[in-house]
Amino acid sequence: MARIPLIVGNWKMYKTTAETTDFCLRLKGDLSEATPQQMEVAVAPPFTALAAAAQALRGSSISVSAQDVFWAESGAYTGEVSAKMLADVGCRFAIIGHSERRQYFGETDDSVHKKAAALMKEALIPILCLGETLSERQGGSAFAVVERQTRQGLKGLAPKNPRDLVIAYEPVWAIGTGQTATPEQAQEMQAFIRKLVGELFSFPMSQGVRILYGGSVKPETVVDLMAMDDVDGALVGGASLDVKSFVQIVRGSLAKS
Ligand code: PEP
Repeated sequence: MARIPLIVGNWKMYKTTAETTDFCLRLKGDLSEATPQQMEVAVAPPFTALAAAAQALRGSSISVSAQDVFWAESGAYTGEVSAKMLADVGCRFAIIGHSERRQYFGETDDSVHKKAAALMKEALIPILCLGETLSERQGGSAFAVVERQTRQGLKGLAPKNPRDLVIAYEPVWAIGTGQTATPEQAQEMQAFIRKLVGELFSFPMSQGVRILYGGSVKPETVVDLMAMDDVDGALVGGASLDVKSFVQIVRGSLAKS
């Protein structure tokens, strides 16, 4: 199955509803030539701006992603948002296991796994983030860490279609630091993740699942990263907050489609 490139902008805790609407309307205008057959694009605003993004992007092929989800369907979980609620506001994707959530909010492989299962139940697509810290890379355990995160995050899930799941390899040392992984480092780890997906599910699943790279992706670095066989797109943080640079990143990825 052909892997359609996917670029996702993770806005983190930035943008009000008015800023979201303005950004999305401009993005929709600037990307009107990119069709879903060529390439997929999504933005991940904060929870408060998801509905505004969905409304502004109506009639375009650009999707909306949440930045997190809680695994229960409903209940006394103050402050949490369920997969059904995300579907209700028009989300197609939800990011889970982002390193900032693992670092500051106690996200674990087990909670990531429960969130992935809850999203799939609502036919939402998890964007499962994983990646090693600098000390893990320097200490030689990067592959063991990524293997644990991949196996524990995905164990027991049964995606029917490779498009039901997205994985984002985000080395923690590259997030928000300006230090992008080299295309070779991204390729090496992403080929490894693809092999693990084959072991966990099936060979066709491994060949169809999209594996994004994330970590200081910029317009200047995206083309070389996307040239790698196992880099199917990008999860972009800082550079996705400005429409111009986000559009440049999308255009830089079109060469692969
Ligand atoms: C991210 O938040 O997922 C990310 C990759 O951030 P940045 O592009 O700013 O490194």
